[in-house]
Amino acid sequence: MEYNTLGNTGLKAAAISFGGIPIQRSDEANTRAVVDRLERYGINYIDTARGYTVSEEYLGRALEGRRDRFILATKSMARDYDSMKRDVETSLTNLRTGYIDLYQLHNLGEKDFAQAFGPGGAWEALDEARRDGKVGHIGVTAHNLDALRRLVEEYGEFIETVMFPYNIVEIHGHDVLALAREKGLGTIAMKPLAGGNLEDWQLALRFVMASGVCDIAIPGMGSAEEVDRNAAAAEELSPLTEEELARCEAIRKELGSHFCRRCGYCAPCPSGIDIPGCFLMANYLRKYDLSEWARARYKAMPFHAGSCVMCGACERRCPYNLPIRDMLEQVARDFGY
Ligand code: SF4
Ligand code: SF4
Repeated sequence: MEYNTLGNTGLKAAAISFGGIPIQRSDEANTRAVVDRLERYGINYIDTARGYTVSEEYLGRALEGRRDRFILATKSMARDYDSMKRDVETSLTNLRTGYIDLYQLHNLGEKDFAQAFGPGGAWEALDEARRDGKVGHIGVTAHNLDALRRLVEEYGEFIETVMFPYNIVEIHGHDVLALAREKGLGTIAMKPLAGGNLEDWQLALRFVMASGVCDIAIPGMGSAEEVDRNAAAAEELSPLTEEELARCEAIRKELGSHFCRRCGYCAPCPSGIDIPGCFLMANYLRKYDLSEWARARYKAMPFHAGSCVMCGACERRCPYNLPIRDMLEQVARDFGY
């Protein structure tokens, strides 16, 4: 396993580390099995979030007795001092620890900067937690390139790491991530597998690490088998050949930018639709050998794409500005309901 230091933090993390979003679709026993595998492979960096429902709690229980073997990172959507102070305490309780290595301001947009970094803002609560020894380092996560650029250029003195999507089909963050690195900020690639849309995991992870702008990548892992697969990929992080780069280019053209990353920010849907679940099943439907399986799984979902009442609430929450209503109409056409 290759280890890289996150900017100037001194935190030395496995190049291919652990993203905790899928834990919210898991249970405690499975989470323990996942953490067992992480420990076995030396995948020592665990990322979760206050917003990932039960993820912090399950991971906290699975980490009992071995917390010191891992670097723990979490994050909060809080933007004001009081909410962030509360969230840090909740994270400490959930994760069953007195210390979180990296606490991140989650999904910052430009509209949030003045509040989060201003007087009485969330950053002040994190800085206080850092002085109190409850938090080691402060980072940010963002999904919008203009926001990332401003964070790096204007707020670099407040933060120590940035997390941004980076994968075969999303390379627009390249130059700003390079600048972040130059400034000594740690760079963390989220969505290295493009939300599960990239089938060749090894190629996808090699692409991210060969970019030269990401210290670590944190693919989401929801099972011991997924840890096995990523750990195997992490053993082969060689640079890409010309032919492999051409394959990446072809994948980029094929997927375009209108694909769901399965982040779940669009929830809840008032009609009860599992939006990323619908898109996932539609992807499987297009694969010849999985289409019958996809039809059966889609049928078993309690609400279908055709139930969308077009309220648009989901689109206002999607950080990738996906035309979710149009996409769901296509899913309804594909499945017939
Ligand atoms: S537009 Fe459709 S899918 Fe989106 S929240 Fe409204 S009902 Fe749900
Ligand atoms: S539709 Fe957008 S917000 Fe919802 S899961 Fe997909 S990428 Fe995330």
